[in-house]
Amino acid sequence: MSGVIQLLPESTANQIAAGEVVQRPASVVKELLENAVDANASLIKLYIKNGGCTHIQVDDNGSGMNTFDARMCWERHATSKIKKADDLYNLSTLGFRGEALASIASVSQVEMRTKSLEETVGTRIVINAGTVETQESVAHTEGTSITVKNLFYNIPARKNFLKSISVETKHIFEEFQRIALAYPKVGFEFYNQDKNLSKLKSGNLKLRILELFKLKEDELIEVQEDTEIVSFSGFIGSPKLAKRTRGNQFLIANGRFIKDHYLSHAISSGYGSLLEDKTHPFYVLILNVDPAKIDVNIHPTKHEVKLEDGRHIYTLLQSVVRKSLGTHFVVPTAKQLSNLNQSKPNYSSLNTTKPDSRYNPFDKPKERIRSEWEKLDEILQAPIPKVTQQKEIFTASSITDSIIDIEEVLQLENSYVLAKINQELWLIHQHRAHAHVLNYRYTTNQQIASQQLLFPRTVELAKADLSLYIEMRDEINALGFDTSEFGKDAIIINGLPSELSKTDGAEVLQQILEDFKENLQQLKIDKQDALRRAAAKRAAIKAGETLTNQEMTKLVTDLLSCEAYTHTASGHTIIVKLDKESLERFFQ
Ligand code: ADP
Ligand code: MG
Repeated sequence: MSGVIQLLPESTANQIAAGEVVQRPASVVKELLENAVDANASLIKLYIKNGGCTHIQVDDNGSGMNTFDARMCWERHATSKIKKADDLYNLSTLGFRGEALASIASVSQVEMRTKSLEETVGTRIVINAGTVETQESVAHTEGTSITVKNLFYNIPARKNFLKSISVETKHIFEEFQRIALAYPKVGFEFYNQDKNLSKLKSGNLKLRILELFKLKEDELIEVQEDTEIVSFSGFIGSPKLAKRTRGNQFLIANGRFIKDHYLSHAISSGYGSLLEDKTHPFYVLILNVDPAKIDVNIHPTKHEVKLEDGRHIYTLLQSVVRKSLGTHFVVPTAKQLSNLNQSKPNYSSLNTTKPDSRYNPFDKPKERIRSEWEKLDEILQAPIPKVTQQKEIFTASSITDSIIDIEEVLQLENSYVLAKINQELWLIHQHRAHAHVLNYRYTTNQQIASQQLLFPRTVELAKADLSLYIEMRDEINALGFDTSEFGKDAIIINGLPSELSKTDGAEVLQQILEDFKENLQQLKIDKQDALRRAAAKRAAIKAGETLTNQEMTKLVTDLLSCEAYTHTASGHTIIVKLDKESLERFFQ
């Protein structure tokens, strides 16, 4: 008897995996650069043409491969980096899935030349859409050269989703920067259309940052702290390097660039009032933890990781940033102080000041100076909290710069978060709080995480909805959707905001359009505002959803970093505070 279930052909399975691993040319660049680093190369050259859509080439002088491995590496789950599941907890390489090369080869035309030290002659392999066309011996120096041509040429649907050449080039340059920062000892070169864009010598992190961002030495402040749990090193930028966009922020955990909103918040809050409102500091921070305490096995592109001890690391990071600013910050002269604007710190006058080597940020100030300098003192004098395994104290800085301790969190009825904060009890409406956080994020143009769909979805829309969609398309996509028109009466969804990645994207998008229309009619607010509120409502945590302690703490921290957080934009209560007075009133 035969059933209906069959194993997928290898080539189809590889193409499906490619949906996850290879989202755009920059993903190919990331995988090839990582492989070259894993092969211990000391010089890596990247060449691209047309935003990487037609040509990506990575040459390295690493270990190379022998003839057997040169063929084997294109098989799915073929890796030299782990042998058993336990090795995942002790990773010292960037790769481990053995998926990248197989995925890339299934959606492009690939040529590789490689030679290992032991062999006298190298191997050349040509693969088209996953099928090996040629394998032969060639002369080659030790190392590997891989060329990936015409990405997605056999999958037109994906090819159509590629953005403009300049956008794809920008993504590639970002990946290049991330790897170059994580591995300053390796030399890197980057050529676009045969023109050299970047030539980075082997050196240390400081030189790498100065070269890559064309900065001056005095614009960087060194960070260094070792504890039992984690060690930090790297550089944070002087406050005047802060920008309205989050571009130049690099957090590298165990050699891997990671995105972590929570830890970014720790760094920004460490600056306190030294940053102007809504600006984001420059940093390149290297974080090293025991490999057993970091889980990188969450997503194939591995930008997201799970860290054990996240709360400790948050507290510590915030304090370390504070301390570094304190030790490196310059003391203004009396004249500069008298020039200071009362309401805003004047960074330009600061930059002309010479560092005072006798300055100890932890000394009490001799003369009382009000205004911003007092705030600076407060930041500098905050003691570094001792991090212990037992006691979990978590600090977050709200926009008002007061230090808030979230000591305890509990969930009630799976709908409310009860938090003990600064000796008060706060009862927080979880859905409204999260919708408010998302709305704030959209309004302040913060980077929105988006996840590509493995299989794009199409949605048919009524004529009126379709014209509404067309009008608002750019705004919708700015919220983390990746959508475009598809034929006469439908749209195609290729990616979703990460908050919505587990939902039925088509249904949610229709709901958002419905809510959007309703908001427009009932609230008399502008179109963008109506859309943001509709999307925030659908993407937010719902009432009835169980949250972990970490999720609750993150929700409260995020809420506190919004400009106003007690009520929603439409005036609904988010927080009920039970302070001493209100408690006493209960028992009168
Ligand atoms: P992973 O990196 O997860 O192991 P890949 O598909 O990226 O998977 O690569 C498969 C294998 O091919 C690697 O484990 C490695 O042994 C080999 N390989 C890939 N690129 C290189 C390179 N540039 N130099 C030497 N070996 C390489
Ligand atoms: Mg790899």
